Amino acid sequence: MATSSPHKQSGNCLIEAKGLSKSFGAVKVLENVDLAVKEGEVVSVIGPSGSGKTTLLRCFALLEQPSDGAVIMRDKTIASPALPGEARQNAKAARGDIGMVFQHFNLWPHFNVLQNIVEAPIRVKGETRAVAEANAMRLLEKVGLSDKRDSYPSRLSGGQQQRVAIARALAMKPSVMLFDEATSALDPELKHEVLLVMRGLAEEGMTMLVVTHEMSFARNVGSRVIFMDQGQVVEDADPVAFFGNPKTDRAQRFLRQMQD
Ligand code: ADP
Ligand code: MG
Repeated sequence: MATSSPHKQSGNCLIEAKGLSKSFGAVKVLENVDLAVKEGEVVSVIGPSGSGKTTLLRCFALLEQPSDGAVIMRDKTIASPALPGEARQNAKAARGDIGMVFQHFNLWPHFNVLQNIVEAPIRVKGETRAVAEANAMRLLEKVGLSDKRDSYPSRLSGGQQQRVAIARALAMKPSVMLFDEATSALDPELKHEVLLVMRGLAEEGMTMLVVTHEMSFARNVGSRVIFMDQGQVVEDADPVAFFGNPKTDRAQRFLRQMQD
């Protein structure tokens, strides 16, 4: 299979949705989704608004409970209505292993940058402040914000806030990072700095599931593209194949609209 990036393709399955369905009341938002993400893969999820992308990511992040099917991480069920007790137990261990970055940065406004990053490792993982701060400084360097450690979120640009949000998620040392339209709320000139950080993570081998409208990221950085429509995975393809020759009418229509 042709690939557009150097990611490991033969890794073990890290996290997986199996027969995943989700309804809100009578509204079926996800229908029988199967999606397995291997270690080191960067999977881009694209599709029209309302197709269920955010809900799928939130199920992976254990922020929504599936109505049917399961989320499985390293062969352990971490969410499933069929195995509620076992899943709840496994989810406890898995939660810190799954990082998520949202469209709106959700930083704590009353904490400075450093405090935003060290809060969870200290409280949830029991890291000492010294260890957490040393790790936070390393992460701030990685996202290019070493000089902002004492700044409050309101003094940062949207792009800087989003890079802090990425550092904050990485501080928990997750095995997989989920991004939900992490650049959609940003002005064009600020998207770039966030996409560069995401690209750097991908190149380091981080396993990533990335909901995005940035077709150039999906095409050039991702190792696989998932196209969703009306709560279903309609295409699951290599980026070169998908962008060169989408199989379904729905994907063709979507890509045409993205070019307008
Ligand atoms: P996308 O991210 O692809 O735009 P979403 O997952 O946000 O799609 O939403 C898919 C559908 O689910 C939409 O019709 C949305 O209105 C509905 N939905 C999402 N969250 C909820 C909720 N908490 N309650 C009711 N409906 C919801
Ligand atoms: Mg969404």
